[in-house]
Amino acid sequence: MKINKKIRDEVLTESGGEDAIKIVDFIKDKKETSEFVIAEKTKIEIHKTRNILYKLFESNVASFTRRKDKIKGWYICYWDFSPQNIRFAYQKLKKDRLEKLEVRLEKEKGQQFFMCKNACARMNFEKAMDFEFKCPECGELMHQQDNSRTIEVLEENIESLRKDLAEN
Ligand SMILES: [Zn+2]
Repeated sequence: MKINKKIRDEVLTESGGEDAIKIVDFIKDKKETSEFVIAEKTKIEIHKTRNILYKLFESNVASFTRRKDKIKGWYICYWDFSPQNIRFAYQKLKKDRLEKLEVRLEKEKGQQFFMCKNACARMNFEKAMDFEFKCPECGELMHQQDNSRTIEVLEENIESLRKDLAEN
């Protein structure tokens, strides 16, 4: 798999939110950019900038060194983008998504679901029984829902994620 901009941006947004792209675009061709310079140039508030950068660090797609500023006397973090780790972060992202979908699929397959006709509530059998099959929101009787379409969609998504992972 070739890491294109779309994949890179997906990893960045998923890790650090929309502004992560802006930050990475600013530091990607530079070396050891001060967090204050990043905040100033991207016009993102310093606390938010730091927050995003640490999230990128946690996803392993950014690194930093901390140095004491000789004049001001406090520590400043200098940041670098780690494009070589995008691939791994992307795979991890897909694996996490896959796991969540598989758990969800198990739940859908192993249980009956009940739903209010006004669509205010959906719950499994045990919970519906607690409410005596009456919607806790509007009081309407809840009916068993056919979740075969949900299962189908989940299986399709799982299949496509597995394919994606196998190609990488
Ligand atoms: Zn209802």
